[in-house]
Amino acid sequence: MNPSSLALPHVAKLHAYTPGLQPTGPGWVKLNTNECPYPPSPRVAEALRREIREDGASLRLYPNPKSSSLRATVAKLHGLREESVVIGNGSDDILNLLVRAFCTSDAAVGFTFPSYSLYPVLVEIQDGRSEVIEFDRSMKLPLDRIAASTARAFFLTSPNAPTGVGFANVEIEQILARFNGLLVVDEAYAPFASENAVPLLARHPRLVVVRTLSKANALAGIRVGYALAHAEVIDVLDRVRDSYNVSRLSQVAAIAALGDADYHAAVVTKIKATREAHANEFATRRGWFTYPSQANFIFTEPKNNRGETGPAVAKSAYDFLFSRKVLVRYFASHALTASFLRISVGTDDEMLVLQNSLDAWLKAPPNA
Ligand code: PMP
Repeated sequence: MNPSSLALPHVAKLHAYTPGLQPTGPGWVKLNTNECPYPPSPRVAEALRREIREDGASLRLYPNPKSSSLRATVAKLHGLREESVVIGNGSDDILNLLVRAFCTSDAAVGFTFPSYSLYPVLVEIQDGRSEVIEFDRSMKLPLDRIAASTARAFFLTSPNAPTGVGFANVEIEQILARFNGLLVVDEAYAPFASENAVPLLARHPRLVVVRTLSKANALAGIRVGYALAHAEVIDVLDRVRDSYNVSRLSQVAAIAALGDADYHAAVVTKIKATREAHANEFATRRGWFTYPSQANFIFTEPKNNRGETGPAVAKSAYDFLFSRKVLVRYFASHALTASFLRISVGTDDEMLVLQNSLDAWLKAPPNA
């Protein structure tokens, strides 16, 4: 007997999440997973060295189960009480806890399409029910449909992925006024946006804001994210999380990164400036339709040298870039995304290689 036949039926047919490629060889310009192109604050490496010291003896001991010091740091950063914060092993962990606590086959989790493609996978793992609300090409928030949703919890990605389009707090409050479930605003990219939903927490007990240190704090490899919400919601999440869900090294690295506000601000300012320059390059110089981005990536619709757009054109550009070791993201599976490329904002040098490679693609004869 194949022991996998013992897996629960919903697990046996599960579609696992497909992360972006993480190439191991040298020479890649990696613009595919929205990591930070700059290193974390130098205080992070210092803090890690301090924690490990000579012999790594502290690693014998379990970490603080509640990530207490990190909670206090995050609470202070946002002007909230510690009871309003829970720390996760990346924000993926937080999203997983939310699904674990609020989703079954009777209690749906709602989300938009497109948005972060992990959400449906987490719901499938739970054998829960998803409620999907599709955008149209305008990518404007389908406010009425979300407000009318009967989902137990709704995950709204703002700024959205992969489009980069951000949603205004007035729209989020309109949803909260009419939607009866838990509204989870996944703010992985909010440090690059002009507005965020944290100020709404004080007057909306059904709002949860999810953040990560993977993008603007350059700590994707250390895996720290958190949720901000009313103490009652945080208590629920604390009850369903692993008791030691954040490692010792992750806790000290995160505290060090969050403590260096000036460094963080400089990195965010630089990435936003690079984003604006290149969004303009795509939209104005190349004349490619490009969504206005509030994130650290750009979603643009390539036009080939015959002026055509479409899935075959986007795929051709993706393949050409790949052949030049420039890695971007292409989402083939849906008409709303299949004509586009999602390009993470890199360093100036990386963006120059990208733009030069696209110029070469436009000169290459068979151009889809
Ligand atoms: N939310 C969104 C919208 C994301 O794009 C990502 C990163 N892919 C995450 C959450 C997860 O980030 P992490 O687990 O690294 O904190």
